[in-house]
Amino acid sequence: MKIRLVKPFVGKEELENIKDVFDRAWLGNGPKVAEFEKAWSEYLGCRASVAVNSGTAALHLAIWAYKFPQGKKVLVPAMTFISTANAALYNNLIPVFVDVEEETLQMDLEDLKRKYNDECVAAIPVHFGGHPVAVDELMPWARSRNLKIISDCAHCAGGQYKGRKLGTWEDASCFSFEEKKCLTTGDGGMVSSDDEELIEKIRGNRQVGMSSGTWQRFKEIQVKNKTDAHHWYYEIKDLGHKYNMNDVAASIGLAQLKKLDYMSKKRIEIIRQYLDGIKDCQSVKPAFPYDLTTTYYDFMVRVKQRNEFIVFMQQKGIATGVHTMPIPLHPLYKDYKVEIPTAMRIWQEYVVLPLFVELTDDEIRYVIDAIIEFDKKHK
Ligand SMILES: *Cc1c(COP(=O)(O)O)cnc(C)c1O
Repeated sequence: MKIRLVKPFVGKEELENIKDVFDRAWLGNGPKVAEFEKAWSEYLGCRASVAVNSGTAALHLAIWAYKFPQGKKVLVPAMTFISTANAALYNNLIPVFVDVEEETLQMDLEDLKRKYNDECVAAIPVHFGGHPVAVDELMPWARSRNLKIISDCAHCAGGQYKGRKLGTWEDASCFSFEEKKCLTTGDGGMVSSDDEELIEKIRGNRQVGMSSGTWQRFKEIQVKNKTDAHHWYYEIKDLGHKYNMNDVAASIGLAQLKKLDYMSKKRIEIIRQYLDGIKDCQSVKPAFPYDLTTTYYDFMVRVKQRNEFIVFMQQKGIATGVHTMPIPLHPLYKDYKVEIPTAMRIWQEYVVLPLFVELTDDEIRYVIDAIIEFDKKHK
């Protein structure tokens, strides 16, 4: 058997939507992008959203929109994908790395409070792997210090915490719709917030800073049947980026959004089977105290003999992954070293196992049996 690590759940609904876009022959930033933004805001339960072409772009522009003075500090968890920290550097801000909690792998709020000082303007918590950061504790603490919380929700599209969607607790939230994520548009991203002014600022930046996109101008004359010699007019206020989403991606997103709750449920069912299957293992332990009321991007385990485990699974035809190492270990961040003892110690034990909607019961069983076999040899 050969089992891959991830697989996007795409099919005829996405194809039909793409065909629709082709039939209309408007492929760029157009009506589908606007429709996807609206549908996403409704799904999440927030006032406004703006779609971009990646989660990295979403993080870059969300931080940019706050216009923080250069050289200020941004608190970033040490265990995350590089884009979280890059969002600070893109904006000429200094990332300060916060250690993670041993039990949950999430940004340690005690360490955050220790590293916070009045140079800090924002924090970018990551619901890492999909496991929720305790935002109910973080938000009041941050608000009383005017520290902006821009969350990286790349791993938790569709997830919730204490009955409320992840991405609605924070000042602004950034999603990734890259092909491996819980909802995919191939590549894509979204910034969501209740702060409509903030979202409009980002909208003004995402297409090279044009005050009005081609579609808006086209609509003015075609849809409203308006005659106006100045319909071509747009102006540039900001040094914008070419970060807009396009209608092909948005049409895929609209189909994916309809399936998101189903996909979340499937992911949780698979995790439930995994957890039950490995509950007696001693050398392989679940990486999170999995909360089965939300959803997860990763099924991650903790294994002391990680290299042996990876090779063992490889021999069985089972793909594994190690997605991240503490950010200061990357050469780009060598000058940003701080005390992050827990992350430095435990990151070497984490491994990601196959998790995707179409994983079959037989495949799940096969992975569990392989883990049990490994465990018997390493107890
Ligand atoms: C994937 C990911 C991103 C970036 O998303 P892209 O859409 O690939 O740019 C940001 N943060 C985290 C934690 C991610 O996993």
